[in-house]
This record gives sequence, C-alpha cells and structure tokens, in this order.
Amino acid sequence: MRLLIALGGNAIKQAHERGTAEEQFRNCMVTTRLVAEIVRRMKPEDRLVITHGNGPQAGNLLVQQEMGKEKVPPQSMDVVGAMTQGQIGYMLQQTLTNYMKDMGISVPVCEVVNQVLVSKDDPEFFGEVASKPVGNFFTEEEAEELKREHPEYIVKKVKPVGERAWRRTVPSPAPIANVESEAIRRMVDAGIIVIASGGGGIPVILDEHGHYQGVEAVIDKDLAGEKLAEVVEANVFLVLTDVEKVNLDYGQPAERPIDRMTLAEARRYLEEGHFLPGSMGPKVEACIRFLEWGGEKAIITSLENIERALAGETGTWIVP
Ligand code: ADP
Ligand code: MG
Repeated sequence: MRLLIALGGNAIKQAHERGTAEEQFRNCMVTTRLVAEIVRRMKPEDRLVITHGNGPQAGNLLVQQEMGKEKVPPQSMDVVGAMTQGQIGYMLQQTLTNYMKDMGISVPVCEVVNQVLVSKDDPEFFGEVASKPVGNFFTEEEAEELKREHPEYIVKKVKPVGERAWRRTVPSPAPIANVESEAIRRMVDAGIIVIASGGGGIPVILDEHGHYQGVEAVIDKDLAGEKLAEVVEANVFLVLTDVEKVNLDYGQPAERPIDRMTLAEARRYLEEGHFLPGSMGPKVEACIRFLEWGGEKAIITSLENIERALAGETGTWIVP
C-alpha cells in the first residue's frame, strides 16, 4: 500500500477554537495517534505521505500581518503559506514521532516546504473571479474601508445573511505540478514519511525567464493533494474531513449517505451539484482525478473513522 492522507482543517484547529499553540498541539495529537496506528500496521514496503490544510492558521497569520504592520513589515501571502507549512509540519512531525517512539517504531518523518506551480493565465487571476475567501469576516462598512486601503484587494459578500458577511477573496488557481516532486519521490522511496503540499502548496508561477515566483493565491489542498498522490504513485487516496460519509442531496430532506460510488457515478453526482463548491466539491473532484490517473481507490471519511474506512467498514469509497 502506498497511502496518501489529506488532513482537513479540523485535524489541526477546531472551528470553535481560537488557535492557541496548545490547542493545535492537542488536535495534532488526536490526529497523529490514529496515524501512528496505521504506521504500526504497515508492511516494510508500504509507504505513507501526508498533506494538510492551513486555512485557519494562514487566516490568523494574515490578521497578524495586518495588525502588526506599523511595527513589522507584513509578509506576502506566499511567504505566509510557507510559514504555516513550517508550523503545521513541525506539530505533525513532533507528535507523530512521539507516538511512534512510544510504539518502538523508528521511521523518519519529514515536512517539506513545498511549492506548487500554477498558470499565470489561470482564469482565477482575472477580473473579480478570485473565489477563495481568506482571513477575517467584515461588515459592509469595514469591507469598504479595506477596499479603500487596498484597492488591489477583491472583497466579496460570502454569506447571504448576517452583518459580518464580507471577506477578502484571492485566486484559487488549478495546481499544475509539484515543484519539489523529485525530492519528495526520493524521500518516499527511501521509506521516509513525508508531509508535503501543506495548504495546497505555496503557489508559484513561471516568469518570463522560466524562474519560479510566488503569487498571492491559495490552491485547494485536496486538488493539490491529488497531484502529490500522482508524484508518489499512491494507490490509495484517503481524504479526512469532518463527515463520515459524503451525502447525496446534501442539506435537503432526501439527504442520504453514499457508501460506494464508481468513477462514472461520482462524475454524474458532481455534475448534478450534490457536492458544494469549495468544500466537498473539490474533494470528490480530486478523487475522480486520482482514479482517472490510475489510482485504485479513493476514500472520504472523518478522522476518527480512519481505520474502519481503510478496512472497508465505513466512509465513502470511490472506485474505478
Ligand atoms: P476540510 O477542512 O476537511 O477541507 P470542508 O469544510 O472544506 O473541510 O469540507 C467538508 C464539508 O463539506 C462538510 O463539513 C460539509 O459541510 C460540506 N459538504 C458539502 N457538500 C457535502 C456533501 N454532499 N456531503 C457531505 N458534506 C458536504
Ligand atoms: Mg476544505
């Protein structure tokens, strides 16, 4: 088994939490204790690669850039992405290693600060398309003020109701290639548990000299995770989020869970709009691409069901 696990935001920070270091370490421990159990049962030839979201951490760090800008120069969004990869990678690395030490397992774990190539011609970079909300919620007045201060920002109403319904949005371009793919592949082949493409990777474009350059954007972590799965030739793609199964007719009276769907069914349901854009949509899309590429199975489930889902007892399985 070559397993790629994509960890959702709640694996590191719960929605109701403020995001203190203690809280995040505690959540990472819940996650990595379960991951360590998977490692315990792996055969010597098995491989594990982990990717993770960074939404809440990058959001908090962006607020710090804004609030502290009179004293310390704010860093650009690509740099903030790199900082959160380091932060979350550190927490996962340390807690997973500690659990494995307790189990007498000595497999090296290593976070890779990881760039992902996007196209500067991606439609998300033009006009007001930018679809990924980041940072704080604002009132209409605050939103207008933010726009005056940063005319280059795109600020959108992202909730139909409520006073604080406005947010800055940034482009969410499609991932094209993982820049550190060769390094990652060699590490994985050598038996290292690699953590990579955190937060969807640091988005970079190629400039006119063919050089990489960071951009203000956020790549969807599930779509980037799928690219990583191809790089490491994973055969199982496991997406861990906050629901045990994917539902049809989500949020409607006829809502019902899916145990298993074929690639063709997944494509049809996606087209019919059963999976919301920006949340379940890209997860199912990533699973579809994984199977199209040649993956054996993709599973979407919640963290606590990781073992049962791998055993075929729960989760939504997507198969060719
Ligand atoms: P993560 O941080 O793990 O990426 P998201 O919030 O982006 O989590 O995506 C998971 C969420 O997707 C679920 O909590 C649920 O609210 C939402 N969702 C949208 N469509 C569906 C669906 N068809 N079935 C189940 N959940 C769905
Ligand atoms: Mg998400």
